[in-house]
Amino acid sequence: MNRFFRKVIVICACIFLSAVIVASSSITHRTVSQNTVQSTEDCLIQASIDTTSEPNKPCLYQPAITNPDNLTNPIPTYNPNLPEKERFLSIVNHTLPLIPDIGTFEYILLRQYGAVFVNNNPLIKLPPKVLFTNTQETKQYQANLTMGKVNIGNNCYLQKVAADALNKSRTQINISLKSGNGAGDCTRSYDTNLRFWRKYASNKTLEQVRQGKETRILSVVAPPGTSQHLWGLAVDLKVYNSKQREVLNQNGWFQTVEGDVPHWTYLGVPEESLTMFGFRKRLVKNIPYWVTPL
Ligand SMILES: [Zn+2]
Repeated sequence: MNRFFRKVIVICACIFLSAVIVASSSITHRTVSQNTVQSTEDCLIQASIDTTSEPNKPCLYQPAITNPDNLTNPIPTYNPNLPEKERFLSIVNHTLPLIPDIGTFEYILLRQYGAVFVNNNPLIKLPPKVLFTNTQETKQYQANLTMGKVNIGNNCYLQKVAADALNKSRTQINISLKSGNGAGDCTRSYDTNLRFWRKYASNKTLEQVRQGKETRILSVVAPPGTSQHLWGLAVDLKVYNSKQREVLNQNGWFQTVEGDVPHWTYLGVPEESLTMFGFRKRLVKNIPYWVTPL
């Protein structure tokens, strides 16, 4: 009798375990087929087993990285199967709905200054386009920004999330503004951007930049209406050593305009995610710049 009951219990346990295995495998299958994978492994498994779909089938991918405590920005999702340029543009497309056509002035500007568009923090307001045509348009955009004061120099304001990250960096290590004057080093007006441009370049240079014949000047000064400083997401700093650089990087600040030594851009994402987003790391005179793959 006892042996009979033991057999019954063993059979029941086997049936129960089989049911659990079947149920869990169907859940896995449903998750994969709905493109809601959550890790690198899941995404790669999906790509390797799903031979029936096209190679570039969209697969929303949440990078298996977590924000450090000092970064509160959400990490954007992307398709890891795309080449780096398309991958970068697909991320940018979340915040910049109209991607300019290749070869246009706007595309050149996106390549040079478009790194900020990988930030999808709802508290940050990105510009609707890469080129403001006049003072009025710039003021309208700037009037809607939530600004914060940076505790360096005089009159330095940035979008609050970026200002907080810079102030936090300053609690960890000493960092100064390039000139000390916030109206030039931090958020600029259209007129300041124009004045800086005229100091280094002319209308003729602007025409050459528009035609794609001149690009070096873009590392020195931004054409009128195109500076990251208009967006409240860039600051010019005196940074001398790798420890300062490391602290800024940990707080979401990176050098994204190749050759522009004092210029720092707030991206608000962990450094380890930049390669995944398609950015390229370029070393110029021992300074690492994270540039767009465009
Ligand atoms: Zn700058």
